[in-house]
Amino acid sequence: MASGCQHNKGDRKQFLKSQVLPDRCRHFINGKYLDSCNGEAFKKTLPAYNESWFDVALGGTAEIDLAVQAAEKAASGPWSRTTPGDRAKMLHRIGDLIEANVETLALAESVDTGKPYSETRNGDIPRSAQNFHFFADLAAHQNFETWIGDDGSQHTTIREPLGVTGLITPWNLPLYLATWKLAPALAQGNTIILKPAELTPLSATLLCELLNEAGIPEGVVNVVHGFGANSAGEALVRHPGVKAISFTGETSTGSAIMRDGADTLKKLSFELGGKGASVIFEDADLDLAIPTACRAAFRNQGQICLAGSRLIVHEKIAQTVVDGILNHIKKIKIGDPLDDATTMGALIANDHRDKVAGFVDHARSGRLGEILCGGKIPDALPTALASGAFYEPTVIAGVAQNSRLIQDEIFGPVLTVQTFKTIDEAIALTSGVLYGLSCSVYTRDGALAQQFARSVRMGMVWINCWFIRDLHTAFGGMKRSGIGREGGRYSLDFFSEHKTITTALVAKL
Ligand code: NAD
Repeated sequence: MASGCQHNKGDRKQFLKSQVLPDRCRHFINGKYLDSCNGEAFKKTLPAYNESWFDVALGGTAEIDLAVQAAEKAASGPWSRTTPGDRAKMLHRIGDLIEANVETLALAESVDTGKPYSETRNGDIPRSAQNFHFFADLAAHQNFETWIGDDGSQHTTIREPLGVTGLITPWNLPLYLATWKLAPALAQGNTIILKPAELTPLSATLLCELLNEAGIPEGVVNVVHGFGANSAGEALVRHPGVKAISFTGETSTGSAIMRDGADTLKKLSFELGGKGASVIFEDADLDLAIPTACRAAFRNQGQICLAGSRLIVHEKIAQTVVDGILNHIKKIKIGDPLDDATTMGALIANDHRDKVAGFVDHARSGRLGEILCGGKIPDALPTALASGAFYEPTVIAGVAQNSRLIQDEIFGPVLTVQTFKTIDEAIALTSGVLYGLSCSVYTRDGALAQQFARSVRMGMVWINCWFIRDLHTAFGGMKRSGIGREGGRYSLDFFSEHKTITTALVAKL
């Protein structure tokens, strides 16, 4: 992998093509890059430039079959004899290699997703390395538990690998989320088939080079590209050789995977959609709450499952908070994801941008709220970006709770504003959606914060902050936001079979 970051020098496309982009993203099966059996491929469009600079091998049943064969063989090979300590060393090596290649991976991720390089360079890719380091250490120290029964018998529960596991990931945080699953799956000794999102195949493909460099045995990690239904994703879910599917993506896709996985009784983990909120009480520190709520709404162009896409604010301070948010929005710099000054890049694709715009148009045409800013494609984009998937940060006030804008996941830079008078009202508005992933609450009153946090139906609640994570803790959502939890031992549990071995009493005291 090329190293060094010179993406601001010379002809950017030529530089990226020579240093970062392959001519084609190929599958990675049994340690080798392969085209599809029938040679089929699809075009990948770079969202900021609306241009296709490389294509992607299109996998389906045949490639998933090959990958499962490779993964099954690897599951009974030398990998099956590795200890947690051996695997921890391997995971640390992979983490180190990601760190050594951070700039190249960050460039690749930025051109693939359209998100600012500053975020991929300082956020997504370092966190991908951290995922490996974290699970290396955790798995090496969380091996088994032993209980001594009343009769002196000894009961030990050990974790064994599941075998071949399938990972299906979305486009919004491609390497970050792929490695969030890959690291614990590897730490527990499984073999893996990863199906990255069709819109963002690049970083997973580049990672495979690093896996080879780290010395991971062939067949332990396989990557098959393709789409979901009637393509590589569905083939992976239906395959009888695959024991479990760890999925992150849309709620409706989760339902499809549950149906398709039923015949082979797959173990499933679902991290699904969200409709988060930033809830600001009258006594909140607004110097903290306003910029944090703004970041929660617009980071990654609002394409984060944990986004605070609903501002729920006490009516007495609503005007001050909204004015503050509008001022902060003026500082957002929309532009080329590779420019250092850019703080908002492109959305993932023009189709998706149009879907986001559709929500705003629905509000506009139905007079469902007041559009306070944005609500359109930016006018003054440089020629190179003119047909990219850009959309202005948008704020819509006065939207009713039963509106699609409040109930549906827009997954773009759109913030709705609602007001409340009492804590009960704030709780009802926050929990009154089908999703239950996360929210933030801002107040100086510790007891109020606890009462609010314990009352809302959300899997994660941040008090006076947003997006701060400790990787040991449970990550996931209630209601239609998911089933199961990731993070720390929750991930290790998912990627394990638990086996209890009991030894009868040997001697009486
Ligand atoms: P998506 O569901 O469209 O696609 C996700 C992945 O599933 C892709 O790899 C896709 O090819 C695959 N897929 C689609 N249909 C499939 C099928 N029938 N069988 C097997 N695989 C299939 O989601 P997306 O648009 O890529 O991502 C955005 C969504 O992900 C949002 O809803 C967001 O909230 C959610 N998300 C959730 C979390 C979380 O932790 N809860 C994190 C990030 C993103």
